[in-house]
Amino acid sequence: MADYPTVEVTTDLLIVGGGMAATGCAVEAAYWGKKNGVKVTAVDKAAFTRSGAVAMGLSAINQYVGVNEGQNTCEDYVHYVRQDLMGISREDLVFNIARHVDSSVHLFEKWGLPIWLDENGRYVHEGRWQLMINGESYKVIVAEAAKNAMDAAGFEIYERVFIVAPIMDGDRIAGAVGFGTRDDKFYVFKAKAVICALGGAVHVFRPRSTGEGQGRSWYPPFNSGSSAFFTIKAGAEMTCQEVRFIPVRFKDAYGPVGAWFLLFKSRATSATGGEYMVVRKEELNNWAPYGLAKPIPANLRNYLGMLDVEAGLGPLYMETAEAIQNIAAQFKDDPKAFKKKMKDLESEAWEDFLDMTISQAILWAASNIMPETSRSEIAACEPYFIGSHSGASGAWVSGPEDLDTPYKWGYGNMCTVKGLFACGDASGASSHKFSSGSHAEGRFAAKEAVRFCVENPTMPNVDAAALEALKKEILQPLDTYAENCKMTTAPEINPNYIKPMSYMHRLQKMMDEYAGGWGSGFKTSKALIERGLELMAMLKEDAAKLGAKNVYDLERCWENIQRTWQAEAHMRTVLFREETRWPGYYFRADKPKMDEANWHCFANCKWDPKTGEWTMIKRDVVPLIP
Ligand SMILES: Cc1cc2nc3c(=O)[nH]c(=O)nc-3n(C[C@H](O)[C@H](O)[C@H](O)COP(=O)(O)OP(=O)(O)OC[C@H]3O[C@@H](n4cnc5c(N)ncnc54)[C@H](O)[C@@H]3O)c2cc1C
Repeated sequence: MADYPTVEVTTDLLIVGGGMAATGCAVEAAYWGKKNGVKVTAVDKAAFTRSGAVAMGLSAINQYVGVNEGQNTCEDYVHYVRQDLMGISREDLVFNIARHVDSSVHLFEKWGLPIWLDENGRYVHEGRWQLMINGESYKVIVAEAAKNAMDAAGFEIYERVFIVAPIMDGDRIAGAVGFGTRDDKFYVFKAKAVICALGGAVHVFRPRSTGEGQGRSWYPPFNSGSSAFFTIKAGAEMTCQEVRFIPVRFKDAYGPVGAWFLLFKSRATSATGGEYMVVRKEELNNWAPYGLAKPIPANLRNYLGMLDVEAGLGPLYMETAEAIQNIAAQFKDDPKAFKKKMKDLESEAWEDFLDMTISQAILWAASNIMPETSRSEIAACEPYFIGSHSGASGAWVSGPEDLDTPYKWGYGNMCTVKGLFACGDASGASSHKFSSGSHAEGRFAAKEAVRFCVENPTMPNVDAAALEALKKEILQPLDTYAENCKMTTAPEINPNYIKPMSYMHRLQKMMDEYAGGWGSGFKTSKALIERGLELMAMLKEDAAKLGAKNVYDLERCWENIQRTWQAEAHMRTVLFREETRWPGYYFRADKPKMDEANWHCFANCKWDPKTGEWTMIKRDVVPLIP
């Protein structure tokens, strides 16, 4: 076995992940942990200050309810999420996040995040729920607060440790294992409770980018399905694994469109100039009641654009020049003011990208796009798993104690596995929490997890032999490579191992062709998924033959194995749900209609660690409010 010394860390509460949800966990757990004598430890595969989906910065905080300002109520937010998810959401979780999210945003401001203010000192809204920010350093600011809180409480954060899998004591969580990405060490974290906040998943499906652009995607490439893998492997029930997210973004560099649609009120059109949201309005009748209510769900907006593309009316465009001209038009009688407004709008347009997707600004510059004079192409991206955004995949977690909800089995945000909590992208059916809501949910989950540790003070048992076997399995790709790499002159090609890049291409091709990726026009069917699952079984067999030249390769190997489990949970749930409910995210061509009578429910799944069998489960959707 590769010569990796084992580092053992014993703690009470372990937070795995270092993104928006985990930083929320850390702030709250540091406070409650110190107060209650509960030791807290956090671990991230990267550096807290620049990790996760917010690493590059954001230009808007997408969830702010504005309760104090009397702008909205938490009930309004529940209605909004219900509508956007075509009726399928855990309203108790959504309500709980909504009632806590404003305080997270106020903390961000206190910690130094510049939120745009208008001339009256009020937050500038991008849309009803979104606040404009100068967010290049958003993650740095939020992470710094988390680090300070942990430090002040005397708790430790481990950075650059890749968490692979949970460790269990029967059906109770007992910690997590992983390896250092810089120090060639194997880490064992033993804990009474674990919060999983390892983000969503990208590169499960074949991306549109190829060649020199390979790897570029809307979702930053850092998250590989570790949350799904961790919770599935612990035996947790999962929900909404079919509800992937497909954003429509500026083409090729995946720049954000929110500011264009919401702030600049831009139109999206086909090549022939038709505005698909207007031209194809009739189609929305087929998806009633959701198609006929406002705001029109994101997947249906996608779908209308996709119909244009299918009809040969592409490319699709964002009419940036028209939008800018429309706003500046109010100053048309004052040339000086008009010129100034145009200049301001132009710089806001560029800043939007510079805050969070610099490559889009580079692409605009490289392809002579000037937003004030030319329109810019948009396209549907490949699918992603991001339960905190407009997808909904994640673990099935317990609802808050004080709410009248049937989904309760102990501690808020605890999975169906004792002592294992999930938040952010890791918890399902509670989408539209975004960066701020993930932070708020993390704070809530942490407080509940500390309570769990206080009320369940015995340390779980960890079987030493099982741990040693896990270590061997995790490091196996290094051994497989070392033992076989001399067999061929080109180490990339070898009959005895598969390199992680080749493995990933195989997974992505399979998902693209059988599970409705962009290459298949986002369409799939029972027969396609069943064939995909056959191929998946063979891929999973070959996963045991992954070969890693070094620790970076080892990380890639495990990222891909984790993606595979996310992919399998997705395919099984798409197969189980015999209807099409989210056209624009995926289309079951053999079941092309929505079936409210039979499928207005959650489609859950569970993998049994003892038997290796999957179970599919229907769960009722119970509204929290009328
Ligand atoms: C492109 C994009 C644009 C977005 N735009 C906005 C926006 O404008 N406004 C807004 O409010 N929200 C936005 N969001 C949503 C927001 O980023 C997410 O809701 C939020 O980051 C989710 O928090 P999280 O903690 O679950 O995941 P993340 O913040 O992604 O954090 C995941 C963490 O897990 C760590 N990790 C992953 N795997 C492992 C492993 N195996 N071992 C150890 N650590 C691991 C990562 O390093 C990271 O620290 C956007 C998201 C994306 C992808």
